[in-house]
Amino acid sequence: MAIPVEEYLAHLLTDVGVLGVEEVAVTRAGGRVLAQDLVARLAVPPFDNSAMDGFALRAGDAIEGMVPVVGDVPAGGRLPVPLAAGTAVRIMTGAPVPAGADCVVPVEDTDQPSGPAPLPATIRVRSAPRPGQHVRRAGDDVAVGDVVIAGGTRLGAAALASAISIGYGRLPCHRRPRVVVVATGSELTAPGAPLGPGMIPDSNSTLIASLAEESHCEVVGVHTVPDDVGELARVLARAAAEADLIVSSGGVSAGAFDVVKELTAAAGFTFAQVAMQPGKPQGHGFVAGPAGRRTPMVTLPGNPVSVFVSFHIFVRPVLAAMEGELATPAYLRARALRGWASPAGRRQVIPVRLTPPESPEDPVPGATPTHRLGSGSHLVASLHRANALAIIPEDTTRVAAGDLVAVTLVGRF
Ligand code: AMP
Ligand code: MG
Repeated sequence: MAIPVEEYLAHLLTDVGVLGVEEVAVTRAGGRVLAQDLVARLAVPPFDNSAMDGFALRAGDAIEGMVPVVGDVPAGGRLPVPLAAGTAVRIMTGAPVPAGADCVVPVEDTDQPSGPAPLPATIRVRSAPRPGQHVRRAGDDVAVGDVVIAGGTRLGAAALASAISIGYGRLPCHRRPRVVVVATGSELTAPGAPLGPGMIPDSNSTLIASLAEESHCEVVGVHTVPDDVGELARVLARAAAEADLIVSSGGVSAGAFDVVKELTAAAGFTFAQVAMQPGKPQGHGFVAGPAGRRTPMVTLPGNPVSVFVSFHIFVRPVLAAMEGELATPAYLRARALRGWASPAGRRQVIPVRLTPPESPEDPVPGATPTHRLGSGSHLVASLHRANALAIIPEDTTRVAAGDLVAVTLVGRF
């Protein structure tokens, strides 16, 4: 009996714990997961400042006649002295609004020219300003003490900008998972090398290593191992010493030379038939390392499309859990642009190309399988066109053109 996808993933997640925390320079923290809630040390903006180039004054002073200009407030430098009633200061965008002033009149709303000019002695304001106009108040965006970024967030560019703006130079982040990749198969040939009879290029080791890097891991070893139990045992023993997670491909089916299964079954690994297509044969367990260390290992099937799908459905969530990332996979809806078959009783995870909606009346993206043969697990060369995986429920046996399907993004759309 095949086990459901969620149940198998739950088993995998019990194998791993959250990695430790280290301080990272905020300028280098892109892609890292924040280890605790980040509380504002600075208000944003940090002080009342001008939203325009112009003149700061009291709104009531500008209603009639000329207002004397007593000085300049450029951006940066010292804080301005409080403004005396009945006077104005020239102020630049972002510069602190002096105490006493309650609005900024843009230079365009005065009798003064914009751009570089000597400080005028007086200005005439063309229309009555509103109190508060063009003043950005301290703390408008966040106040000191506000929780601004939640622990468990993976930091993107905007989050880094936010962390810097609230006063941080270093951030507590979970350590990146160290991953060792092991591709197994006596038929495997190094990239670009001439093929002997019955040999194939080893695309999986680079596929897995690159997916791990796209998932912000540190790949500390990539090995290609023939179907030889002794050699595999040696590679795994070394990997267990340096990795937080070992990911292998191949050798987990029912073949006579499925060495991963042979070796690791003896070490107490669990092998399962998962109700998923592709990627049915899966396994996981621990490899013994030095000093009683037990390094978790996930054994993926050999077919490259199975590897790609299994990585996204199982390995990515495991890596995210190790980094303490709080995120659940997000699904979107897409419209199947042609039909395909799906196996009964298994959740199909089929690589698709998402394309922009074809009309405003049907504002959902289109989804087309990246290969005309559908989800065949050997269709590696067309896999790169996939920017999403369509997730077809276990009880669906046919997707018709025009059906809505759930998709999850795996690339740019
Ligand atoms: P296995 O589960 O080891 O029998 O592998 C299943 C099939 O996946 C093999 O017959 C190969 O066609 C393919 N395969 C296995 N490993 C790789 C690899 N590293 N790179 C590309 N294809 C592979
Ligand atoms: Mg094999």
